[in-house]
Amino acid sequence: MSEKPAVAGGRPQRATMLPYGRQAIDDEDVRAVSEALRGEFLTTGPTVERFEQAFARAVGAKHAVAASNGTVALHLMARALGLGKGDRVVTTPMTFVATSNAALFCDATPDFADVDEETGLLAPSTARSRIGSKTKALFTVDYTGQPVDYAGFRDLADDKGIAFASDAAHALGAEYKGRRVGAQADVTMFSLHPVKHITTGEGGMVTTDREDLAERLRLLRNHGMDREVGRRLGRAYYYEIVELGYNYRLTDIQAALGLSQLKKLDGFVARRERIAQTYTQAFRDLPGVTPPVVRPGVRHAWHLYMLRLNLDELDAKRDEVFAALRAENIGVHVHYVPVHLHPLYRERLGTRPGQFPAVERFYERLLTLPLFPTMTDRDVQDVIEAVEKVVSWFAAKRTKGAVRPKATARSRPRTSSSRRGS
Ligand SMILES: *Cc1c(COP(=O)(O)O)cnc(C)c1O
Repeated sequence: MSEKPAVAGGRPQRATMLPYGRQAIDDEDVRAVSEALRGEFLTTGPTVERFEQAFARAVGAKHAVAASNGTVALHLMARALGLGKGDRVVTTPMTFVATSNAALFCDATPDFADVDEETGLLAPSTARSRIGSKTKALFTVDYTGQPVDYAGFRDLADDKGIAFASDAAHALGAEYKGRRVGAQADVTMFSLHPVKHITTGEGGMVTTDREDLAERLRLLRNHGMDREVGRRLGRAYYYEIVELGYNYRLTDIQAALGLSQLKKLDGFVARRERIAQTYTQAFRDLPGVTPPVVRPGVRHAWHLYMLRLNLDELDAKRDEVFAALRAENIGVHVHYVPVHLHPLYRERLGTRPGQFPAVERFYERLLTLPLFPTMTDRDVQDVIEAVEKVVSWFAAKRTKGAVRPKATARSRPRTSSSRRGS
C-alpha cells in the first residue's frame, strides 16, 4: 500500500529541495580559476585558445569558437551563416526560446515544424514539408541530449541547398552513429551554463569542420575587427572594422574553469547515464508514466530526464503531479513551454495554440526529473520513491473515482508515513 503524499498531508520525501540540475565544482576547478586570476590575461587570452582546442578535440570537430554564453553563440552561428531579413529558418518549437530567437536576432523568420511525439525531436520528414524558397537554414535541437537524425538532416539540407545548424546545448558527450556530436552539421552550438554538462559559469561554444565559418565566427565575436591588415602594414595599433560585430568573448578565467571541467566530461556523462538507467528501470512498469524513448544508433547525453505522464491513467493533470512532487521537495521542472505559444511569437509570427498538435500533446504530459552528476544514490532513490508515491496516488484516485464518488476515494485509511528503505 502506498503512503500518503505530502500534498495530502503526508510527510515530504525530503527535508530540502533537490534541484533538477546543478554544477559539479571540485577543488581542482577552484585551483584552475585561482591560477587564471593570477595570470596575465583576464579576458580572452591563451587559455581561451587552449580551451577551444581541447573542446574541438573532445567533440571531434576541426574548430571550436568560444563565446560569452550559449545564446550569443547561437547568434554568432546565425550571423556566420549569413542569415538576414527575409530569410527563413526551419526549427522546432520544443526547445529553449534562444534557439529560434537566434533567427529573430538577425531579422530572419523561424518556421516551426511539429515534433516526433515519442522523443520530442524534430524529424527530417516533418522539417522537409516546412522548407520553402526563402528557407536558408535548418536549426535542429538535440532535445534532452538525444541526437537528432543527423544523417537525415544532412541529406535534407544538401538536397535543398540550405545550411544545417545544430543546437546541441543538451548534447555535449552525446554520440551519433559512434561519433560525438559536434561536426555532423555545418555548425554546432553548445552551452556552458551551470545546469549543462560542463560549465564556465556563463559560456558557449560553436564547433565546425568548416574553416570559413570558424573565421567568420571569430570575426563577429570580436567587433568584426580585422587586425591582420595592421600586421601587414607593420602598424601595431591599426585594425579595420569590416563587419558589424559584437563583444561576445569568453574570458581566460572562464576558460580555465572550462578546461578543468572538460577533463571530467566522460565521468559526468557516465554518471548521468547510470542515473537515467536507474530511473527507467524503476518507472518501466509503473502505471501512469512512460520513460523516455531512446532511438537506436545514438548515445544519449542525458541533459534532461523527461518523464511523460499517461494522463488517461491518472486523476490529475501534469500541473497537479508537478505540485505534488514539489511538495515532496523534488525539484521537478517542465522543459519547455513550446516556443510558438509565447506572446512574443504569437504577436510577431501569428503562431497560435493548436498549430502544432504533437508538440502540444507532448508538452501537456511532460515532467523533468532531477538529474545531475553529483546526485547521490539516496537522492536518486528519493526521486524514485516520490514519483511512485505521487503517481500511484493519482492513479488510485482515478480507479476509485470511476466506481465511487471522489469523497469516498479520498478517505482511505492512513498508512504509515515512514520512508521506505531508510
Ligand atoms: C541552455 C540552452 C541554450 C542557451 O544557452 P545559454 O548558455 O543559457 O545562453 C540554448 N538552447 C538550448 C536548447 C538550451 O538548453
